[in-house]
Amino acid sequence: MKNRMSELVTLLNRYAHEYYTKDTPSVSDSEYDQLYRELVSLEEKYPNDILPDSPTHRVGGKVLDGFEKYQHQYPLYSLQDAFSRAELEAFDERVRKEFPEAIYLCELKIDGLSISLSYENGILVAGATRGDGSIGENITENLKRVKDIPLTLPQPLTMTVRGECYMPKASFDEVNRFRQENGEAEFANPRNAAAGTLRQLDTAVVAKRNLSTFLYQEASPTTEVSQESVLKKLSKLGFAVNDNRVLASSIDQVWNFIEKISQERNKLPYEIDGIVIKVNSLAAQEELGFTVKAPKWAIAYKFPAEEKEAKLLSVDWTVGRTGVVTPTANLTPVQLAGTTVSRATLHNVDYIKEKDIRKDDTVIVYKAGDIIPAVLRVVETKRVSEEKLAVPKYCPSCESELLHFEDEVALRCINPLCPAQIREGLIHFASRDAMNITGLGPAVVEKLFSQGLVSDVAGIYRLQVEELLQLENFKEKSANKLYNAIQASRENSAERLLFGLGIRHVGSKASRILLEHFHDIPTLAKADLDTIASIDGLGLVIATSLHSYFEQEGTQTLLAELQEAGVNLAYLGEKVAADAILSGKTVVLTGKLETLTRTQAREKLLRLGANVASSVSKKTDLVIAGADAGSKLAKAQELGIEIQNEEWLEQL
Ligand code: NAD
Repeated sequence: MKNRMSELVTLLNRYAHEYYTKDTPSVSDSEYDQLYRELVSLEEKYPNDILPDSPTHRVGGKVLDGFEKYQHQYPLYSLQDAFSRAELEAFDERVRKEFPEAIYLCELKIDGLSISLSYENGILVAGATRGDGSIGENITENLKRVKDIPLTLPQPLTMTVRGECYMPKASFDEVNRFRQENGEAEFANPRNAAAGTLRQLDTAVVAKRNLSTFLYQEASPTTEVSQESVLKKLSKLGFAVNDNRVLASSIDQVWNFIEKISQERNKLPYEIDGIVIKVNSLAAQEELGFTVKAPKWAIAYKFPAEEKEAKLLSVDWTVGRTGVVTPTANLTPVQLAGTTVSRATLHNVDYIKEKDIRKDDTVIVYKAGDIIPAVLRVVETKRVSEEKLAVPKYCPSCESELLHFEDEVALRCINPLCPAQIREGLIHFASRDAMNITGLGPAVVEKLFSQGLVSDVAGIYRLQVEELLQLENFKEKSANKLYNAIQASRENSAERLLFGLGIRHVGSKASRILLEHFHDIPTLAKADLDTIASIDGLGLVIATSLHSYFEQEGTQTLLAELQEAGVNLAYLGEKVAADAILSGKTVVLTGKLETLTRTQAREKLLRLGANVASSVSKKTDLVIAGADAGSKLAKAQELGIEIQNEEWLEQL
């Protein structure tokens, strides 16, 4: 037994290091939890053999080099966990022994990382990670870049508050898409992405990545009497506080909440990994106290893992817009988080090597929320073949030799004439956030391209109705509709075109900033590197990429062709004035809009100075509701938020 205990301690400490310090877990949380539980039960049986470095006696991970250490004035704890109703009932029994009338507050367990914020006289003076609970990392400058953390409080209070910093699912998808396109390793999940971002030494990266927070604890002494009243106070002070919570007087009620949230979990815009159940009275909390590692007055119910075993049937290698070649596994279908999964990403060629995934292996697939399923690891005991997976040497599209650059985890096709890259580039050009050409989706692009009707983005504008009529399933009406959509897109403001050109590192936000500054694409094309790099919100990487793009021979020809086709190269939007009608207001769009598309409505709101958010909270100032608006509208009504319709927006 001693051996197994020592083996578990070594393994768990290694996993914890990978998870907390390096932000690159090599096993799933449920696997970690299983091993942890095995260790706990062995330690209960053989208390004399407990090892001094056992993770059951310590909180979290070590402090990373590169950041100053931060000594917490009030320690941070972990939480005891429960995986079944029976374990919650046992917790309830322990609490009720001392407090028979206890009431619980059930909160969402946000899957991010703990942060601690200290204010002096109402000013944010320090922000830190949990670290080992007593010493964390001083990440004040990074936390100042997280938009929903107040830098000053409405009252000159001196206090320390705690909460969770997380990356919303949408930002996570965007960050990973960007990383994939640039041949960088993707983050395993939003938690790791948030942790990795907060431990960035470059604050500009933090600012770009859209992290958010939910605060849930006042760590310094408080005059409040309950967890619920603390949350209300935090919310009044301007902190983001999660409204999805409920008071419960029995485990039955707690369980109802758990079941309700389990159903809704996938629809939340952020990841949660369970429900935290806390004794509501702060006096009772104090009385119940702490173990070495966790409070005795709270427990985290963890949702069962969304993981399944599947058999690897084959691997598809596809070329993206930037030439990165990505492997996708075809699997025997499995039910996962409410959907049937038969394909899962294998991320990149390095990942396959690192996980040693072989032909016909049985693998574990998992899905975190809305995110595409991924292959987590191999079940080695079920291996049937030693044969390694074949890694392509040549591009599956153009057959040119693939390169594996030293600083990249991906394979790359660098042939600028590679058909797959051109096709993906055309799809991107027509997509919603770029030129927004309705009807020009992947299937139509594929037909136009394979029939030789379009070979670059300028070619889209040379298309004639007669040519569109040659496409399968195209009738007069559909051909005219697409033709008109193409013509209409010529009038777009030029930031859409710039983004649509698919220049590496130049996203839609950077495109807007660039054109606000240079007004049109020809002027931007002539700008020197330093001028671009010095613009607020951009930087050298974007500037260098733009510069080399505009230096390419073909670029000038392409721009001339677009201009000749009547495509607008100028910025039509205006710089948002500080006194714009909706300046500083947070607006949420919901329901079906009749005349405007979502993108148009969003753009209009941005031009009017609004911040457009995806979910309704106390911070929302206005909701624009279209037909069949559902839960967001209901929530806005509940919170007494101003609600307007599409017509109102159009008249603004
Ligand atoms: P935890 O994540 O299970 O719970 C404690 C944390 O929950 C708190 O520190 C806080 O940050 C967070 N939290 C979120 N919402 C909260 C709320 N409303 N109220 C209070 N706290 C809230 O514990 P931990 O000690 O941070 O981590 C242990 C867990 O981490 C393990 O159970 C495992 O799932 C995971 N882990 C995984 C690996 C791996 O290799 N995959 C390694 C180590 C740990």
